[in-house]
Amino acid sequence: ALIAAVLNMATMLAPVDEVLWTAQDRNAEFPASGEIVFIGAAKDVTDPEFPERREELARLVDRLDQAGAREIFIDMVFDSPSSPEADALLNAALRDVASRAVLVDSVRTGIDGSDALLESVPAVGAEVPRSASRIWTNMFGQAWYMEYSVPLANETRPMFAAELAGKGTVRAGFYPISYYFDLSSIPVLRYENLAAKPQLAEGLAGKSVVIGLINPPGVTRPNIPGLAGVPPSIISIFAAETLKSGTMFRQSGLLVLAGIALMLAAAAFLRSGPRRYAAYALTILLLQVTFYATAQWAILLNGGAAVALLIVYGAFRARSVWKRNFRMVDEDTNLPTFAALEASREVADASPTIIIARIHRFEEVRRTLPRELHAEYLLRIIARLRAATQETTIHLGQGHLLAWTMAERDPELLRAHLEGLRALFGAPLQVGTHSVDVGITFGLDTSNSANVTRRIAAAVSASEHSTETYDPIIIADSASDEELIWNISLQARIDAALANGEIFLVYQPKVSVNSGNLQGVEALVRWNDPARGLIPPDKFISQCENAGRMSHLTRHVLREACKAGNAFERHDLIFPVAVNISATLLHDRQIVRMVTDVLEETGYDPTRLVLEITETYRIANFERAAGILRELAALGLKISMDDFGIGAASLEALQRLPFDEIKIDRQFVGQMLGDEKSRGIVRSIITLGRELRLTVVAEGVEDAQTFAILRDSGCQLAQGFGISHPVSFDDILLFQHFGKMRELRGMV
Ligand code: C2E
Ligand code: CA
Ligand code: CA
Repeated sequence: ALIAAVLNMATMLAPVDEVLWTAQDRNAEFPASGEIVFIGAAKDVTDPEFPERREELARLVDRLDQAGAREIFIDMVFDSPSSPEADALLNAALRDVASRAVLVDSVRTGIDGSDALLESVPAVGAEVPRSASRIWTNMFGQAWYMEYSVPLANETRPMFAAELAGKGTVRAGFYPISYYFDLSSIPVLRYENLAAKPQLAEGLAGKSVVIGLINPPGVTRPNIPGLAGVPPSIISIFAAETLKSGTMFRQSGLLVLAGIALMLAAAAFLRSGPRRYAAYALTILLLQVTFYATAQWAILLNGGAAVALLIVYGAFRARSVWKRNFRMVDEDTNLPTFAALEASREVADASPTIIIARIHRFEEVRRTLPRELHAEYLLRIIARLRAATQETTIHLGQGHLLAWTMAERDPELLRAHLEGLRALFGAPLQVGTHSVDVGITFGLDTSNSANVTRRIAAAVSASEHSTETYDPIIIADSASDEELIWNISLQARIDAALANGEIFLVYQPKVSVNSGNLQGVEALVRWNDPARGLIPPDKFISQCENAGRMSHLTRHVLREACKAGNAFERHDLIFPVAVNISATLLHDRQIVRMVTDVLEETGYDPTRLVLEITETYRIANFERAAGILRELAALGLKISMDDFGIGAASLEALQRLPFDEIKIDRQFVGQMLGDEKSRGIVRSIITLGRELRLTVVAEGVEDAQTFAILRDSGCQLAQGFGISHPVSFDDILLFQHFGKMRELRGMV
């Protein structure tokens, strides 16, 4: 639309507009007033070689005067004298009619752009009223505009057409000429006929008469819509009829453009192809109907911009359709692509099993082959696949994935079939003189969802998890479809859940191993979804991260934890509250800001805040993380390393980052009783902690024996289901009063 609007502004669409005007003009016919009569002369009446022609005209003027013509316009220029007698006769005839006869001079625009008048000589025109005419034609010979008057060196003359319409006031500017008038409703007489049968003039009483040459010498005849080469006087008559009938409406092109742009925008919103095409058809039909209808109201539309929009839009659409089709076929192999598989109606309707084959080490192998064998390599693989898949179409995807479909759904049979296929690939392929091994594994989707795109994605993702040695054939989890939707909606709902309290905190006690006294709590986040029930934190935390809302969630948890800490204090419970902070938040200083803000906002004592850093293996830049942790520590709070012992680089993280506390992962603590190794690991971590002067917390303490071993090993704090599950704020208060008796009976 913008392109069209610019073209319109640059008047580059004028030719299109004109073509459309012509079309509109031919779609409606209004009768002319009938008061203006054209008398066309075939011979050149002005030719000075023929004085008798001037005499004949003089007689005709007399006749018209007698017949009672209202006005007589002589639309021709007698620019050279003929015989003095003839000129005098004509001059006398014109003067006799007094002001009702007008001689129309012609305005000629010189090469330098200045206007000059081609006038009748005084011998003919002395003391006769004068008017002027000028016909502007464009490059198509069409005259669309007429001036009201023409400015000359020492006067401004009203145009003949304006005078003819009785609107001959001197006024500047142009007006559009309407060709809506039916040409045949303009009375036309042959000059020669009239001269021969003067009685014909009787019918002209009260009419305005224009006498002009049909084919004036040295003048290119203008065109009107539907008719090439008309006598110039006809243009003036059309212009006069236009003025007589009142102003003609001409609609701005931008209005039509906006209308069409709106229609197209609405059409573009339709998802179904057939409906969209119907909407396009309707748009074009509507444009035509509008043109036709407005023509009936004598309104001319500037439709160029709208037509340009349609063309531009069509071109863009065609390009994208072409691109889509182009994407359907791979250039090198001529195989259909995954896009073609996606677009396949058959697959959507019958939902056969989708099989994705992954070719392992494809790139490496290809690189070792000479360039000219690259295509052959792939074709050999496909040829071998064909041996087992027969007539099914094989589709080629990015990353050297191949896809095809099979009607078979039974996982056992599918596996057997694909195992057979793998066996076929057991023998090396012969590519040129090279013999190459091909590793092939599969991912399948056997669900019957109609969403082919998602099915392909599921099969591709299954193929990504397949391995040559261990798991060569993986069938995508059919639940994953629903899961996918769920996960997506989860991301979208996180903010709302935070706002309406679906996300809240529970607290798990940390107790002293020696005394069993409550020494602190860890805040753990919970999401109680009205539809789904409790959503485990592991699950929505990763979603939160994917949705980029991690710091949002963390801020919420921090704030709630600090508020709870203040509330505990009001109940005389003075202990640290621990909050989990994902290591991914240590990538930038935003976290420092967040913690500072929350502490300030809640007025919570920073020395009673512990940040448990989880997933330390995800720290990419230890230097930066250390800097950020030091800034945090400077606020007065404690930093704890969560899940110590699992994940890579734990010791390195311990070495390079400023921790105050380590939490031994529950994987080791939980297995201490039965497994000597775990016991050894826990003991040595406790020793390590003592060496480094760190508080050591054992997580996942589920029973009294474990608790006892920990105490004997010199561990300071313990946390676990054996002591207390994560509980609500109120239950922490109860725990303080009764927990020791109830849950720790036999432990301490
Ligand atoms: P984590 O920080 O290691 O938290 C301890 C997890 O172990 C909790 O699971 C807790 O319920 C569980 N647990 C406690 N005692 C025992 C036990 O004796 N046996 C067993 N088997 N498990 C026990 P939860 O609440 O499901 O949290 C899972 C993880 O989610 C947490 O592991 C933590 O990494 C993360 N998380 C929880 N809340 C937040 C949070 O607010 N922010 C961040 N970034 N992560 C959080
Ligand atoms: Ca934790
Ligand atoms: Ca932990």
